[in-house]
Amino acid sequence: MTTITLVQGDITRESVDAIVNAANSSLLGGGGVDGAVHRRGGPAILAECRELRASRYGKGLPTGQAVATTAGELDARWVIHTVGPVWSSSEDRSALLASCYRESLRVADGLGARTVAFPAISTGVYGWPMDDGARIAVETVRAAGTTSVAEVRFVLFDDRAYQAFAAQLG
Ligand code: ADP
Repeated sequence: MTTITLVQGDITRESVDAIVNAANSSLLGGGGVDGAVHRRGGPAILAECRELRASRYGKGLPTGQAVATTAGELDARWVIHTVGPVWSSSEDRSALLASCYRESLRVADGLGARTVAFPAISTGVYGWPMDDGARIAVETVRAAGTTSVAEVRFVLFDDRAYQAFAAQLG
């Protein structure tokens, strides 16, 4: 069983085996979590992202998929980059958001990670409503079956996000 814990704060300050980055498909950095990960993690992460673009993801990392790199100077062994869907009021993209959590856990399991920190994927610049984003995150992690991951830690930036996840945990 995977234990789910909640923390309010900056995900780049966490000590875990793997930190999940809410990346964009370019893998070349952006704002929000992505900006913070590259700022604090240093240039080794971007260097590996560039290699991944050149070798495996010439068109970018597709939405809903996940890939690991070094964590550079972060207090973690790996960063797992995943690309959330942009919120749409006309199209249901929940399966893609669930896929981000599921695929990130699959990559973490493949690496043998025991502790994994997730941000609230897609709920920033990509505009996903926080309550629904929290529901999908918690449901997907709960449904994920047995993996090497003993703890999933959701790291929520502000009180509103923390409360939304707390409500889902019940
Ligand atoms: P996306 O593009 O997937 O929406 P963002 O990085 O813009 O990703 O935001 C995702 C969520 O992460 C938002 O709820 C945002 O408030 C939060 N966030 C931003 N920076 C950090 C950080 N350093 N640590 C944890 N959460 C963060």
